[in-house]
Amino acid sequence: MRRAILAGLIGFLLTAAASAQPASDLVAPEPATRPAAENAGRQPVTAEKWLVAAANPLAAEAGAAILRKGGSAADAAVAVQLVLGLVEPQSSGLGGGAFVLHWDAEAKRLVTLDGRETAPRAATPILFQDEKGEPLKFYDAVVGGRSVGVPGTPRLLEALHARFGTLPWADLFGTAIELAEEGFQLSPRLLALVAEDSARLARYPATRDYFLSGFMRALAEGGRIRNPAYAETLKALRDRGADAFYSGAIAADIVAAVREAEGNPGAMVLQDLAAYTVKEREPACAPYRLYLVCGMGPPSSGGVAVGQILGLLAETEIASFGPDDVRSWQLFGDATRLAFADRERYLADSDFVPVPVRGLLDPAYLSARAAALEPGRRLEEAEAGEPAWDHALNWAEEPALELPSTSHFVIVDGEGDVLSMTTTIENQFGSRLMVRGFLLNNELTDFSFRSHRGGVPVANRVEPGKRPRSSMAPTIVLKDGEPVLALGSPGGSQIIPYVAQALVAMLDWGLDAQAAIDLPHLTNRFGTFDVEAGTSAERFVPMLKAMGYEVKTGELNSGLHAVAIRPGRLEGGADARREGIAIGE
Ligand code: GLU
Repeated sequence: MRRAILAGLIGFLLTAAASAQPASDLVAPEPATRPAAENAGRQPVTAEKWLVAAANPLAAEAGAAILRKGGSAADAAVAVQLVLGLVEPQSSGLGGGAFVLHWDAEAKRLVTLDGRETAPRAATPILFQDEKGEPLKFYDAVVGGRSVGVPGTPRLLEALHARFGTLPWADLFGTAIELAEEGFQLSPRLLALVAEDSARLARYPATRDYFLSGFMRALAEGGRIRNPAYAETLKALRDRGADAFYSGAIAADIVAAVREAEGNPGAMVLQDLAAYTVKEREPACAPYRLYLVCGMGPPSSGGVAVGQILGLLAETEIASFGPDDVRSWQLFGDATRLAFADRERYLADSDFVPVPVRGLLDPAYLSARAAALEPGRRLEEAEAGEPAWDHALNWAEEPALELPSTSHFVIVDGEGDVLSMTTTIENQFGSRLMVRGFLLNNELTDFSFRSHRGGVPVANRVEPGKRPRSSMAPTIVLKDGEPVLALGSPGGSQIIPYVAQALVAMLDWGLDAQAAIDLPHLTNRFGTFDVEAGTSAERFVPMLKAMGYEVKTGELNSGLHAVAIRPGRLEGGADARREGIAIGE
């Protein structure tokens, strides 16, 4: 990092650390995101035996070290996640939740595991409403204990390792503990996000001490930071498994932080933590051309929505139009709008509301809905359809607000196991509550703040023990019963179009994993076209406007990581909009 930026950050963090209420108009001294245009022409990383692609080089390297030793994809995933929780703490960690898709090469079987956060038993549908029944403002709900769901990541890592691990559990902790004890170099993106978020990070003492005072000291000494509290938490997990997290002293501290969060407490109790379970779910798979595209089913909307977008596009000429024809983007955007209309009405935790997954992915249903898609002509209205199968009840539509944070990584090991994991604490820095070296999530704000509309209940309303609807879309694509591609991304509800776009780019347009990730984003979820600023995609803006679309140009901060499995060769791609890399051998 340049000296001037460093000096700027130090001065800025000094101010922030000194006062609990720093000026809210402080701007990041360096953008947290690099535009995609800078990445054009990068080559994918190729490998023969194994490959890992993750959002931070230290995390990818921790996974690579495990794979080099002959560890499995599941082993490497544990190591990657433990390091991400340290070096990319704004996005994911022990205090959050995740979804994993795992391909077992020997059994030829795809398993999806749900480690999503869960609402405490005392949570009710009015959790995010004021006395008048009106929804709270987003950040009033997020910051504090109210938004914290029971974390799922520690149990998920344990379950993943128990089923698919080969190395001893304790061997997966070495790098993370060492980095936490010896220190690691703060990344420019993390520093920029801390600068942007300093007012919220200053609100709770433990968070302020680490992210503001601690970072400031670290910067003055060259930018390396240690997190000894995290090292201690890791040692407890290493020695006693996930029980060390869900009961005893760590659990007690989590409950205390949530219940005592000044100004916005939550109602979590020890029993909520003790009762947490990882759930194996049915993969949500949809045919697309010669492929079977598999993703995460409810409580994520990711797999269903991506499958729907592709199912709708299968009826169009998007493959032959290619990425330079505006009609491809118009069709892609309108297909996404139709998928989002269904998502808003039907998708939620299927343990609480019947979700018509089969009906929503039924090729006949999608083909009928695709009749509304016309190349070159804007779809007027995108309304939810009426899918058949498993009790298609009607719910009131409600979009829950999701702002981008989160992390995605992919791993292929030497035995051919493939893993695709999206992991999150929801908003950047989650609830801003820090316990024992890790941040607690704000995942409960992925529920709808409104419980009903015009007397009709919202499927994704808060309920005790329920898991909030997600957009996370870890994906594995199969061809002839074998995996050919794994990918996923962060990005709030933009995850869905980011992943679908990369799939079209690779499966229809023949782009390699890196070129597909680097392709500038054009997405449309609710009618407005979002176009990635500073990229060649801006050339489409006048054409889209001429078709009648409202167009917004801005940052579209994906963090796509992908691996294509070609005959005798692995091909990995990492998203330069964040800090990720792919490593393979
Ligand atoms: N919490 C969101 C979800 O589960 C993800 C947020 C993000 O990617 O930024 O869908």
